[in-house]
Amino acid sequence: MRILVTAGPTREYIDDVRFITNASSGRMGYVVAESGVSRGHEVDLITGPVAIEPPPGVGVINVKTALEMRDAVLERTPVTDALVMTAAVSDWRPIERFSGKLQKTNDMKLTLESNPDILRESTERNPGMIAIGFALEVDMDAASANRKMEEKGADLIVLNSVAAIGSEESDFEVFSRGGTKVFSGRYTKAALAEMLIDLLEKGKPI
Ligand code: C5P
Repeated sequence: MRILVTAGPTREYIDDVRFITNASSGRMGYVVAESGVSRGHEVDLITGPVAIEPPPGVGVINVKTALEMRDAVLERTPVTDALVMTAAVSDWRPIERFSGKLQKTNDMKLTLESNPDILRESTERNPGMIAIGFALEVDMDAASANRKMEEKGADLIVLNSVAAIGSEESDFEVFSRGGTKVFSGRYTKAALAEMLIDLLEKGKPI
């Protein structure tokens, strides 16, 4: 099966030097890509800037901004059987990107505009693929995670909390459409990745 994985943060540039971003190590996506390859799947990894090495055997596409990630995902969406969106895509970007380096002033006002929802656009374009989204909720809010799954057209959503950022192991809850809990518990990201590949191999839930 052809699996597309996104990982890491995006950078939204203010000028050529400064940017806003999200906290994300990229680990989750990288272990999903690694599990996919080890199970014999064809895996492409679209990654924002991270400090870890991609696993061997994976097709790596490096991006920086959410708009670059969107283009890279949508280009591959039509030929993808499964999409795993672990990326911490920035919700906003500065409305204007200045070239060079802005001179320092006393105060600086930033106006942000919303980034497109990559997961939603991708599931709209290829409703036949299986899509897994991730929801980071400060208080493990399952209702919010399930709402996101529906809005984004994902088949499954992985709920985790801020504690998961950068860690090897964390609490995870996985839901399918309609809010059914598929499994939950404390897992290493590598163990969770294997379980997610198991779900993808079962095929798209009806
Ligand atoms: O809405 P929220 O950012 O919490 O949703 C998280 C899920 O949606 C993740 O799977 C993330 O990769 C995806 N996402 C996206 N495009 C965005 C924001 C989030 O695909 N602009």
